[in-house]
Amino acid sequence: MKFLKRTWCEIDLNTLEYNIHLIRCTAQKDVMAIVKANAYGHGDKQVALTCQQCGIRRFGVSNLNEALMLRRFGITGEILILGYTAPEYADLLVKHRITQALISLEYGQALSAAANRPVKVHLKLDTGMSRVGFFAQDGVPIDELKATAALPNLEIEGVFSHFACSDSFVEADVRYANWQIKNFDRALNELQEAGISPSVIHIQNSAGILNYSHPQSNCVRAGIILYGLHPSEDIPPVGTELKPILTMKTIVEQVKAIPAGTQISYGCTFTTDTDRTVATLAVGYADGYFRLLSNRADVLIHGKRCRVLGRVCMDQMIVDVTGVRVQMGDEAVLIGRDGGEEIRVEELAGHIGTINYELVCDISRRVPRVYSKNGAIVDVVDDSLHLQ
Ligand SMILES: *Cc1c(COP(=O)(O)O)cnc(C)c1O
Repeated sequence: MKFLKRTWCEIDLNTLEYNIHLIRCTAQKDVMAIVKANAYGHGDKQVALTCQQCGIRRFGVSNLNEALMLRRFGITGEILILGYTAPEYADLLVKHRITQALISLEYGQALSAAANRPVKVHLKLDTGMSRVGFFAQDGVPIDELKATAALPNLEIEGVFSHFACSDSFVEADVRYANWQIKNFDRALNELQEAGISPSVIHIQNSAGILNYSHPQSNCVRAGIILYGLHPSEDIPPVGTELKPILTMKTIVEQVKAIPAGTQISYGCTFTTDTDRTVATLAVGYADGYFRLLSNRADVLIHGKRCRVLGRVCMDQMIVDVTGVRVQMGDEAVLIGRDGGEEIRVEELAGHIGTINYELVCDISRRVPRVYSKNGAIVDVVDDSLHLQ
């Protein structure tokens, strides 16, 4: 299978299967695969299909578009939209059997009024995140929940909440997460007493799966750990067995020897102090390789670390390959392993004060995703279709 060998990502579906297995063993509950934002940049089609082949029957996305794409790819299980869907799309939800997060009575009324047949929903309780959901931090809004349950065109299948800091072992954060669990449990009890007993109950995200147990729920939402990435630096030993599924690569366009005192790239922010050999790579910030990584990050060429010199441009950047045997057309690893060396997403995120989530989500559409299984390429998602 062909793809444009410029900058690309290789995604190992066997490793994804391994992570799924690990998550199931750890959670001991139904796993909802969170594949929003193009599966955190990894490509939602192959990620979701692999999850489905592994027996996963629940998927979480951010919006209606992502949900409809999954249906088009052949995902038959439940698809839960975690964010907002305007009530005018109620019939599309019904038609494609898509489940909607139900965040308030006002929203429920609008959705119910707009729908011709019942929309499947999961009640979203705000137990401490203060983002969306019925405010359940200070008691339970049971009257609103009852009024919601009484609406004619809603079918309440689930109830869920979301942790704000389950990824941290700082004492105050642990206390906060436990307080959220308490708020959630109180709401579950009051719902039950009111005769509202949704069958699917979930609160744990990736960090919640690794760091907390919640026997009252029967489902977990696994996002970042599916991709083998850790939700934060604070991870328990069980999480360390996860393996990243993505490798990002580019190629060398040109190699040249340059003398001491040579200035490199836009703004001349780097000047060589000695004679160097530099390689220009076919990757830039338009590919999702952040400009903030200028003069900071390393890439791997033939298993050796090579520092980015000067500014990352839109489509190209320059690295120091002094002492490394490099020629035009060689591969460079931006994220992943090469020989005994590895550049983890977390290393790049650390350089620029952000998190692994943001870096993988920002890998651009123009970067082909190449999927392999059992050593063979099984699919390519690439804008440059003329090569196929
Ligand atoms: C994104 C998201 C998740 C997944 O979070 P991870 O930290 O990647 O596991 C779970 N639940 C909700 C509501 C989300 O928005």
